[in-house]
Amino acid sequence: MDNLMAVRQKIVEKGNEILATRLTVGTWGNISCRIPSENCLAITPSGMNYDTLTAEDVVIADFNGNILNGKRKPSIELPLHLAIYLARQDVQAIIHTHSAYATSLAVARKEIPGAIEDLVQIVGGNVRVNEYALPGTPELGAKAVKALEGRNAVLLANHGMLGVGRDLDEALKVCQVVEKSAQIIIFAQLVGGAVELSAEDIAGMRNFYLNVYGQR
Ligand code: 13P
Ligand code: ZN
Repeated sequence: MDNLMAVRQKIVEKGNEILATRLTVGTWGNISCRIPSENCLAITPSGMNYDTLTAEDVVIADFNGNILNGKRKPSIELPLHLAIYLARQDVQAIIHTHSAYATSLAVARKEIPGAIEDLVQIVGGNVRVNEYALPGTPELGAKAVKALEGRNAVLLANHGMLGVGRDLDEALKVCQVVEKSAQIIIFAQLVGGAVELSAEDIAGMRNFYLNVYGQR
């Protein structure tokens, strides 16, 4: 039970962070995290302000979408989060945002090329745009999973972006790096366009991030 409350509290903190750093505005976006010890997940409630959210507002659900704990309605994107958790055992946390530069590319349906050092390290390559589907639908989940294959981020066509990670901190970092990368790519277009990295260099940098980078 302590574990459940700790995860719920951490989700509240991440909600405040995505709002404060303008990765979203208003009540949009959503955040979830697996709780392996209880074989369930925690997800933000639908349409509630991040800055007044409490741990009790965060909903606990199983992987069939049944609500196990919590008085609030879960995010309308619960089917999207479930589809990703079912397809990707490596994913422990998901953050969906509506940040401006990433969404600009998502609206234009232009991917972020694998052209930036930190991006390819943390995402694993280019960030694809999924085939369009309405928010809150199982179709969005299926199409996002497809575009997310082998990557830790996806641009949601005409909607926003989504980052995944081994924990909530990493998922947030993915969202921050993708947003910065989207801005860079838009500016790079103004000065002649981005130069993509080779598949070999991308794989090498991804391996470096996973196995060498930082304090170990
Ligand atoms: P929720 O508030 O239900 O999570 O919906 C916001 C959103 O971004 C839908 O895609
Ligand atoms: Zn959304």
